[in-house]
Amino acid sequence: MTTATVVGGGPNGLAAAIRLAQAGVAVTLVEAEHTLGGGARTEELTLPGVRHDLGATAMPGAMSSPFLRSLRLERHGLRWLRHEAVLAHPLEPSPGGAPGRSPATTALLWEDISRTAQGLGRDGAAWARAFGPLARRYDEVVDDTFAPLVHWPRHPLTMARVGMRAALPTTWFTRRFADEPARALFAGIAAHGFTRHDTPLSAAAGVMLTAAAHDAGWPIVEGGAAGLIAALECGLRSLGGRIETGRRVVDAAALGTDLVLLSVPPRAALRMLGGDVPARTRRAWSRFRPGPAAFKVDYAIEGDVPWSDPDARRAGVLHLGGSAAQIAAAERAAVAGRMPERPFVLIAQQYLADPTRSAGGINPLWAYAHVPAGYEGDAAPAVLAQIERFAPGFRDRIVATHVSGPIELEARNGALLGGDIGGGANTARQLVARPRLGSNAYRGRRGVVYLCGASTPPGGGVHGMAGFHAAETALRDIGAISPAAAR
Ligand SMILES: Cc1cc2nc3c(=O)[nH]c(=O)nc-3n(C[C@H](O)[C@H](O)[C@H](O)COP(=O)(O)OP(=O)(O)OC[C@H]3O[C@@H](n4cnc5c(N)ncnc54)[C@H](O)[C@@H]3O)c2cc1C
Repeated sequence: MTTATVVGGGPNGLAAAIRLAQAGVAVTLVEAEHTLGGGARTEELTLPGVRHDLGATAMPGAMSSPFLRSLRLERHGLRWLRHEAVLAHPLEPSPGGAPGRSPATTALLWEDISRTAQGLGRDGAAWARAFGPLARRYDEVVDDTFAPLVHWPRHPLTMARVGMRAALPTTWFTRRFADEPARALFAGIAAHGFTRHDTPLSAAAGVMLTAAAHDAGWPIVEGGAAGLIAALECGLRSLGGRIETGRRVVDAAALGTDLVLLSVPPRAALRMLGGDVPARTRRAWSRFRPGPAAFKVDYAIEGDVPWSDPDARRAGVLHLGGSAAQIAAAERAAVAGRMPERPFVLIAQQYLADPTRSAGGINPLWAYAHVPAGYEGDAAPAVLAQIERFAPGFRDRIVATHVSGPIELEARNGALLGGDIGGGANTARQLVARPRLGSNAYRGRRGVVYLCGASTPPGGGVHGMAGFHAAETALRDIGAISPAAAR
């Protein structure tokens, strides 16, 4: 019987282990921390009973992932929840705004594209033209983008539409909109790509996440991201998979199994593998660069955030960065290694849809800022200032705070190099060569060692598809499944 070790108990490691176990491989999953989850953990970080997502929280990729869907995780207790609106992007009032009106305007992204278009005034038609064709065929988009990187498109027309939009720099993409709300709304979504907004392909994350939002929203898991991990753990155990937590792997050769799958970035994998990868692979893996970092701040707050515009309370996620130009400037600075004065900040107020995360009127509020890779300073005051900019008086609602800068993020998860939460910089080159050019991005040494984490296609986010494809590659290489059986 073939034996395998999967290193890393995040979504991709779990997906890889499940796929191997499904194929009859005796698989052991090894995780350095005492709990599984990687970038998708939930803990009572601040006060007893107040449940914070340490990393991932809104998970459109997990809900639409073909592999995770095939596992029917609802059987193991997974429950998706949605907010009234997907996303709110508050803006400062334009000078000369009508007196007596709300002191700020907020662009709102709804699951319903017509409702979104309506709210964007004269940019509504352009918004519907940009995203309608993708949202209407979102199942085709998923089918191709979650397929292996090198494959014949199954839906060429839809993928041509995706490509025409995703290839653009964000600064070009936003030129189709006349007014700031639509421009800023898109620029904030594109900023999930953690990249300069004036570079080709920087619109890609925005295009994909907006299409996903108009398909089925950006759902959260009841009780926190850990609910998804618990369901995956049940799935793995039910297939006979073994799990060892609290064991940090330093030498992959000592694992002693036929196959080793590593859900860490290439540089971290090289440290575990020593000289055990071909020279060409080693060179490519050594060149693969991490992206900018996240600076995470979790608040426990009494009641709600006092948003200037009450519309901001309707959404699960908020983007705090101001105008499209301000966001682009902040991202440019972070990518260049300079701490932005006003960093781009993401907020999630999951408790509005999920009361199980709160205790005694105290609610968790999730926030992180985009900061330079490995940033060692304290970005918490800048995060607080961005929230106060759109919610004056917020600081008075804070009961407790938990801060994790890039150094702490990496200390708790060896896959987050320098605090990079995306598995590698999303430069045009690294979106294609992830982590190397060629038809197989996952293979380290054929039939022996594979990468299966967010540094391999389809990249960062919770979806498990990198783990699934890595496992399929390994199974094909050892002849356990035929090429035709591979998806
Ligand atoms: C602050 C933050 C916010 C995010 N927000 C979102 C979001 O809203 N939506 C979304 O979809 N994604 C989000 N992400 C990204 C998402 O969490 C990751 O892309 C995803 O978890 C990647 O999965 P993975 O399995 O490849 O790696 P990870 O989840 O990072 O798991 C890697 C695992 O490997 C373990 N490990 C590392 N080295 C070793 C070793 N030597 N030995 C044993 N174990 C080891 C780590 O402890 C970790 O558990 C966020 C991430 C962070 C940190």
